[in-house]
Amino acid sequence: MAYKINKDVCITCGQCEAICPQSAVAFKDGGYEIDPAKCVDCATCAENCPVEAISKDE
Ligand code: SF4
Ligand code: SF4
Repeated sequence: MAYKINKDVCITCGQCEAICPQSAVAFKDGGYEIDPAKCVDCATCAENCPVEAISKDE
């Protein structure tokens, strides 16, 4: 399982991309996305997102 960004909620602040220790977050197709192959579920991005747009993709 990896974390996932809800693009409907995301305000594209870039915080998650800057803070991810795995460089798993990238901007593409008009929004930020988490690469599940790189994400190690550390939750750092979810804890720091100002609008709670990131949650675990169960
Ligand atoms: S949970 Fe951790 S590794 Fe996964 S995208 Fe967020 S900051 Fe990166
Ligand atoms: S930290 Fe939250 S609001 Fe900012 S770019 Fe990432 S998902 Fe979007």
